[in-house]
Amino acid sequence: MKLDAKALRYMSTEDFRVLTAIEIGSRNHDIVPATLISQLSHLRSGGINKFITDLIKRKLIASESSSKYVGYKLVYAGYDYLALKTLSKRGSVASVGNQIGVGKESDIFVIAGDNDEQAVLKLHRLGRLSFRNVKNKRDYFRPDQSPSWMYMSRLSAMKEYAFMQVLHEHGFPVPKPIDQNRHCIVMELLDAHPLRQIEKVGEPGKLYSELMDLIVRLAKHGLIHGDFNEFNILVRDDGSPILIDFPQMVSTSHANAEFYFNRDVDCIRTFFKRRFGYESVLYPKFALDANKEFDLDVQVAASGFTKKEQSQLEAFMESEQTEASNAAPHSHDEEDEDLPSDEEIVYADDSEEDERDMDGLGEDDASDSDDSDDDYDI
Ligand code: ADP
Ligand code: MG
Repeated sequence: MKLDAKALRYMSTEDFRVLTAIEIGSRNHDIVPATLISQLSHLRSGGINKFITDLIKRKLIASESSSKYVGYKLVYAGYDYLALKTLSKRGSVASVGNQIGVGKESDIFVIAGDNDEQAVLKLHRLGRLSFRNVKNKRDYFRPDQSPSWMYMSRLSAMKEYAFMQVLHEHGFPVPKPIDQNRHCIVMELLDAHPLRQIEKVGEPGKLYSELMDLIVRLAKHGLIHGDFNEFNILVRDDGSPILIDFPQMVSTSHANAEFYFNRDVDCIRTFFKRRFGYESVLYPKFALDANKEFDLDVQVAASGFTKKEQSQLEAFMESEQTEASNAAPHSHDEEDEDLPSDEEIVYADDSEEDERDMDGLGEDDASDSDDSDDDYDI
């Protein structure tokens, strides 16, 4: 999914108030009725239609009918707008550049902040699959709080940010976290390539040990990455690995901890054998090597990402996995796993000038519609 930076520029204060009202209304309404939008936005009910029509035209919201009434809901572009607006007010995002990645559950862009420094914006996009299964897991949710893509994507970003902060503070090789809002995180742009794209390394044995040591060090801190594979390990030119992508991390006290730990270890063993012809009899084992000495899992829980939110996100991710594997069974032994292929990684496309700038997201969006000289050229 593209991030339509152009749509973000031409926004009046009233448009913004209506959009925000729909977001607030969505907390307890699947479809937000016009009367509630009017109340929440403090705009006359007669007057809001024009703004609603306009927002629908720009594909920031959609109208939908329930059996009882017609109402409105945010779509991803609208939610993107709200998050970017907040991040831009805080100075974390001043302009959006090229899309560098598109995963099953995220879009990744290079951005620049007010300090002109480049960084990475990751937009979490949970719920590209349906919500059928998770709706059966209602016990994780209050009756008035249905598991929407918006809520789940926000939880995923909150969780990733909380883990990135704690890991970064404790000296783990992860990107430096910069900011988070709604379903978005901003982090350091790494000068490194996914292991998946690397054909040769100087000493496969050295990298293999470093990665296994990283799995063990995480476990000693009470954590398991849960998706420790060649897509989520970036390698710098000097050969050092950096770990990314944390929404599925679990504690070593999780009921299935041993399964997740072994799966992470196996991913690396399988990849090194296949790609570099490297095999070792040495590899970590949960029972022997995962003795917890530090409580980072507890620290994350204390960081504001609650246990309840953790269970909700977990229930959702499990149901998505079940759904995905029902659709296309995959095994880690197959060469082309059910993971994004290299072709799905989108690189810069110079023909898309218009998409590449969103200066003017700040105070006076509506008036800043000209392509001024301070366009950020990435
Ligand atoms: P997903 O959850 O969709 O798998 P990831 O966080 O794994 O998203 O990121 C997808 C891809 O985007 C990565 O494989 C990498 O190529 C790129 N990427 C992500 N974060 C960064 C970063 N901080 N610096 C550079 N590239 C990144
Ligand atoms: Mg990933």
